[in-house]
Amino acid sequence: MNRLILKSAAVAFGSVAVSLLLTLIIVPALGFPISRTIWLTSTVCPLALAWIASATTFWQSERLKSAHRELARAHAQLAAAHRRLSEKASRDDMTGMLNRESFFAALDGSRRKSDRGALLIIDADHFKKINDSFGHLTGDDALLLIAAAIERGVRSGDVLGRIGGEEFAAFLTGATEQEAKRVAERIRREVELIRFRPVDERTVPLTVSIGGTTCGEGIGVSDLMRAADRRLYEAKHRGRNLAILDRDVPEAA
Ligand code: GH3
Ligand code: MG
Ligand code: MG
Repeated sequence: MNRLILKSAAVAFGSVAVSLLLTLIIVPALGFPISRTIWLTSTVCPLALAWIASATTFWQSERLKSAHRELARAHAQLAAAHRRLSEKASRDDMTGMLNRESFFAALDGSRRKSDRGALLIIDADHFKKINDSFGHLTGDDALLLIAAAIERGVRSGDVLGRIGGEEFAAFLTGATEQEAKRVAERIRREVELIRFRPVDERTVPLTVSIGGTTCGEGIGVSDLMRAADRRLYEAKHRGRNLAILDRDVPEAA
């Protein structure tokens, strides 16, 4: 407020100075004497008018600046809320992993950047039996344990998604076939080691079957999925609790 008064005072005194200067030049040039009334008019008028006008202008400009600041703050809050919302929309509520749509979008993005990497599809074995024996809520607990085991099994930087009810997927960025086999085996083992005790001290085994494939040049996401799915099917067929990434799985399996 003080700054506003000082600024408008400076403008008002400046106006008085200009007004006096013009009066001193123009009035004698017109052949009139500079009377006390002229002195008074050329001082008081600019002093009063310029002060009020500049104070109003500065006040409005301050209000405009403050409105701009408010708007910028609201805009930043809106952008943050939007980021939080789209982050939430891309996640599976239960496990916090990417949901199916976002996983495939991330996979597609990764494939565009590099031809290297491996895709694993991880499916819980006989999961219907868990639900049937202990109920759906206990089944959810088991799923959370499986999701945590998968997270322990992958490397940092790998992309994880829940692509179905009891089906997960991992994209192992830049992994070779050997690395992918090691990670798949680690996941399988981590799940196998879970001590799931839904009712009493008795441990109910949890296992997963894994099908995987490494990326090759020009191979699209749906071809990768098909190859990994075929190996998952083969792992189920061979008795479950197994990871298969070998290339020798027959096409028609
Ligand atoms: P397989 O070894 O052949 O995969 O057998 P499975 O029983 O796991 O496979 P199936 O497709 O027959 O059944 C999948 C089960 O997973 C049935 C479904 O109710 C359960 N399921 C899927 N999503 C959820 C979930 O979010 N929570 C719980 N508790 N169960 C789920
Ligand atoms: Mg299953
Ligand atoms: Mg399944």
